[in-house]
Amino acid sequence: MSGGSPPQIDTQWKRISGLLRAEIGEAAYRSWLRPMTVRGERGGMVTMSAPTRFMRDWVVAHYADRLRALWGGENPSVQGIDIVVQPNCFAPGTDGAPMSPASAQPPVRSAARGAGVGSENDLQDIGAPLDPRFTFEHFVVGKPNEFAYAAARRVAEAIRVPFNPLFLYGGVGLGKTHLMHAIAWHIRQRKPECAVIYLSAEKFMYRFIRALREQNTVDFKEQFRSADVLMIDDVQFISGKESTQEEFFHTFNALVDQGRQIVLSADKSPSDLEGLQERLKSRLNCGLVADIHATTFELRLGILESKSEQLGITIPRKVMEFLAHRITSNVRELEGALNRVVAHAQLVGRDITLETTQEVLHDLLRANDRRVTIDDIQKQVSQHFNIRVADMHSARRARSVARPRQVAMYLAKQLTSRSLPEIGRKFGGRDHTTVMHAVRKVDELREQDAAFAEDVELLRRMLEG
Ligand code: ADP
Ligand code: MG
Repeated sequence: MSGGSPPQIDTQWKRISGLLRAEIGEAAYRSWLRPMTVRGERGGMVTMSAPTRFMRDWVVAHYADRLRALWGGENPSVQGIDIVVQPNCFAPGTDGAPMSPASAQPPVRSAARGAGVGSENDLQDIGAPLDPRFTFEHFVVGKPNEFAYAAARRVAEAIRVPFNPLFLYGGVGLGKTHLMHAIAWHIRQRKPECAVIYLSAEKFMYRFIRALREQNTVDFKEQFRSADVLMIDDVQFISGKESTQEEFFHTFNALVDQGRQIVLSADKSPSDLEGLQERLKSRLNCGLVADIHATTFELRLGILESKSEQLGITIPRKVMEFLAHRITSNVRELEGALNRVVAHAQLVGRDITLETTQEVLHDLLRANDRRVTIDDIQKQVSQHFNIRVADMHSARRARSVARPRQVAMYLAKQLTSRSLPEIGRKFGGRDHTTVMHAVRKVDELREQDAAFAEDVELLRRMLEG
């Protein structure tokens, strides 16, 4: 195969990835297809590369058939595709270097999960305790988190470091800490000799500053650099903290160079974190960056089912659906709502019904409501589609304004508890049947058009965030 790829094949790939992007949606596209590179074509075989083995395996498992078909459609001489691993960045210890054997340091805790009592030692002192509920078994997997989950499992089960670092990011309460603890529990259980350190970035910073003050940075460095797996949660906290970043950068490099695993989390992607040094950003981008998306109704329902099962309580389906529909902000809040409903029922000795649920949670439901107003929705949607807010109320029927208006009505129905007539009134005094039609139409379009569905989802996320 020749080294570069001729321009023609690049153009073909652009078209193919454009088609796939519409099919699988923006998020999946960004995670999987954008990092792929076309290496060339020879003898009817197109060679493409993925930056890590993990990504290669995922693309092969999920998209190979589709890719083959699309390549065939673009270029009839293509008989098959070959996906190879070719790292984009230089990251020692990635994809191939063995995970280091047990370090000289004693493990944090050799007992299995939930033991809660560990021998006091240095490592335990620098790490933070793990929540016994935060295991893989208790993590409900759905579309919004399947990628992050798969990546976390891969790190936990790997014999060799599959990618470095694993960078998990997503909004508050979506399961980042849960997944990190799950990795730690899994490794501790399977390889008790492995030194796993988990702590928040805040704590890392605090320890570092204390070491500086006590002129004890040598110990500090040694402690962290003895980790086989180092996990630092919420790294956005070190944004703008120059000296902590400096130290973190050196620790990071030292560990990666020794083939140790690093797992990080933040509320934004490395590129979007402000106040982070460029070289640190690019280092963070060298591993696998996995986004946890906002929950969907199905995932929320799944989580409620799992939690009520853990609590050993049967909750009427209607109540669970109601909660999944109405508490959409994050999983932490959803869990809190469920706990309140259960606690109340046990306390007063009554069954859980839709009525008692609404009663017990009325403040929370109101707060969830108040978060998004129809005005907010109209503003955001107009901005997104580049139309005037006034067109939300106007009688104009041109598709270019009618469609955004329908999207806004749809979101108003989904995100607020306003009735159809109330929503109609807010849109220039339209009839409730118009709103109903809009909701149906948008639902239909979401089914048919992946790009449109992504748009609506994006708007919803912006409004809820
Ligand atoms: P983050 O660190 O992203 O802010 P957490 O990991 O602390 O969020 O999650 C908040 C709560 O929601 C935890 O109690 C966690 O167990 C729960 N949670 C989040 N996602 C899931 C999930 N997919 N399945 C089960 N529980 C989840
Ligand atoms: Mg967290």
